[in-house]
Amino acid sequence: MHIIATHINYFHLCHRKLWLFANGITMEHTSDTVYEGKLIGETTYPQRAEKYTELEIGGSKIDFYDAKSKVVHEIKKSNKAEEAHEWQVKYYLLLLKKNGIEGATGILEYPRLRETKEVVLTDSDESHLNAVINEIANIVDHVCPPVIHAKICKGCSYYDFCYATEP
Ligand code: SF4
Repeated sequence: MHIIATHINYFHLCHRKLWLFANGITMEHTSDTVYEGKLIGETTYPQRAEKYTELEIGGSKIDFYDAKSKVVHEIKKSNKAEEAHEWQVKYYLLLLKKNGIEGATGILEYPRLRETKEVVLTDSDESHLNAVINEIANIVDHVCPPVIHAKICKGCSYYDFCYATEP
């Protein structure tokens, strides 16, 4: 299968979410969530479109890439799933490296919280990501993982789908 950054993000959030997305099951507003960061970015920083490039790499799209200083800017609404966000950015850094752009770094931005976090790719991150890529293919090829009953479910676009049959 062809891995994209969304798979990496969902792997670190919920394996069921990853499975549903990878098997083409999307809820009507799922795509809105995917573009949410971009919309927040464009309304918060209207000047960005001129300064940064939208980069398509390995089938994944980096909304704001500063080619001059080799910095990936990823804008998110909330930091509730920060670990998943970080791995998404690290995956972008790995894609850049595989395409000959060494030493790129990332910045996670939460404009609504006025917070930023720097993201770098270490050797052990690379090993982790390579293992995750294999694991994703394995999860997607097997039966749909169970509902995780976690806090994040409430904000998930698959909430109704996952809990429709629960009392
Ligand atoms: S609602 Fe919960 S269990 Fe279902 S896909 Fe989303 S995070 Fe996973």
